[in-house]
Amino acid sequence: MMKIYEGKAKILYQTENPKELVQYFKDDTTAFNNQKFALKEGKGVLNNAISTHFMQVLSESGIKTHFIKKIDERNQLVQKVQIIPLEVIVRNIAAGSFSKKFGVERGTILSKPLVEFSYKRDDLGDPLIPESHVDALGIATFENLKEITEHSRKINIILQKEFKKTGLILVDFKIEFGINSKNEIILADEISPDSCRLWNENDGTSLDKDLFREEKGDIIEAYKEVAKRLGITL
Ligand code: C5P
Repeated sequence: MMKIYEGKAKILYQTENPKELVQYFKDDTTAFNNQKFALKEGKGVLNNAISTHFMQVLSESGIKTHFIKKIDERNQLVQKVQIIPLEVIVRNIAAGSFSKKFGVERGTILSKPLVEFSYKRDDLGDPLIPESHVDALGIATFENLKEITEHSRKINIILQKEFKKTGLILVDFKIEFGINSKNEIILADEISPDSCRLWNENDGTSLDKDLFREEKGDIIEAYKEVAKRLGITL
């Protein structure tokens, strides 16, 4: 299979079907725009399993996603899409860059969930981007953004509910959307503890990539715990 894209945590391969790709989950773990790097053995297997679970849950709730099926431990078959170069971030509780940028104490519950956009450009450090700039730069139209925001809010409600069942609080998460061959805007990429902030309901401890960013603990043990709580068999 021909490699068509390699990102920080995944590789995409073209299949014989021009409309389908294989998405491979790597163990590579990065933070702060590649400044921090480590190989975490087994992370790809965990994220593939967790992302598969959430893509299935979302599909069952009527959300269109690129996910077709899990092939094996590290690979998924997905629809080929043209990725919209935006990191769509949904926040329920202040943390991370939001707390830093806007001076809101970590842990403050937002009056309503916030959907924000970052321009997916490593060379620029993925800057926060206003909707008017997204439109002016031709990244997406206002209409597209409205649709993306609606999908993101629905996804937030579904994910929050799923995590709550397992004693986890969904603080925030990042998702990406793409346009498929039918010109639909669908959820792409992954949903995993690499791209979500998850706090333990009882003691507020993290079970996500912040453990790696802040060197507070072992992400493999934490991701295994997330999978276990979600009832995912590895
Ligand atoms: O760092 P920040 O607070 O903006 O991150 C918000 C959420 O988006 C976090 O859950 C983080 O893991 C995720 N994120 C991501 N990839 C990025 C930036 C943020 O998955 N490049």
